Amino acid sequence: MTEPDDLHVWSLPMRVRFRGLTLREGVLLRGEAGWGEWSPFVEYDAAEAAAWLRCAREAAAGDWPAPVRDRVPVNVTVPAVDPRAARALVLAGGCTTAKVKVAEPGGDLDADADRVAAVREALTEVAGDGAATHVRVDANGAWDVEEAVDALARLDRAAGGLEYAEQPCAAVEDLARVRRRTWVPIAADESIRRAADPYRVRELEAADVAVLKVQPLGGVRACLRVAEEIGLPVVVSSAVESSVGLAAGVALAAALPDLPHACGLGTATLLGDDVLDPPARPVDGSLPVTLLAGAALGPEPDALARTAAPADREAWWRRRHDEVAALLDGRP
Ligand SMILES: [Mg+2]
Repeated sequence: MTEPDDLHVWSLPMRVRFRGLTLREGVLLRGEAGWGEWSPFVEYDAAEAAAWLRCAREAAAGDWPAPVRDRVPVNVTVPAVDPRAARALVLAGGCTTAKVKVAEPGGDLDADADRVAAVREALTEVAGDGAATHVRVDANGAWDVEEAVDALARLDRAAGGLEYAEQPCAAVEDLARVRRRTWVPIAADESIRRAADPYRVRELEAADVAVLKVQPLGGVRACLRVAEEIGLPVVVSSAVESSVGLAAGVALAAALPDLPHACGLGTATLLGDDVLDPPARPVDGSLPVTLLAGAALGPEPDALARTAAPADREAWWRRRHDEVAALLDGRP
């Protein structure tokens, strides 16, 4: 059994609404080698949350592969804002890759195209003359096949060439259909959430890039196996974790044999506070692998106090942890 002092239940305000949330909650658990994060979304059942717990235990046991690089490049994320705000976000981020949200409810393709064009222009300013910049779009599965084919042609023109399009349609079969009708490379994100999903993507040849998240797939080593078997370039993304959770994503990105694309791990900026001081925020477009050591050490006492969830939420997460731990360990 995990002792009470070895669990820290945190609650952090979101600066930007994410999945409809204004607060993000989770648990840090301390093991032999340090701290790991367990932060499955509250609506997930025990079976789904068990994969996330495997990831936290791997971190707490210090069971990560050795890094093969010092820094992990990350993208700036541009939500569905007007071109002027999009430009400001890119200039502030210092990244030379941007992920632009498109196809949001209530939006339209003209506005998406204007945002994408503004982002490309701002990236070119950040990178300087002649340096490479990358614009990817993320539709979060909002289009049908016909809409996706048309929209990607338009956005590709507006961007002067897209790096890739993330999850243009919801169903993996539709991703495969779109991929056969567009020259824009396709990335599978929501289509890869559970352990069996990557093999479906591979079987259907539905994507050119695989977006992997360490917690839902059960940890760094599990993701490395997926990466090897799926045979696609991998982009490591976060589930909007605290900086201790982001470290697991950085550990994966640092250990992948090839990392041709910037990762979606610059999300600490979405939180209004963090369990680590300083948080895992990108500098000049990348995260240093040295932050893994700080994440293992975990929060300072004042951060523990500052980020602690209210008593009722703490009790809820401790009960949930006991239930999921019992399932994972095969206890009644
Ligand atoms: Mg996505």
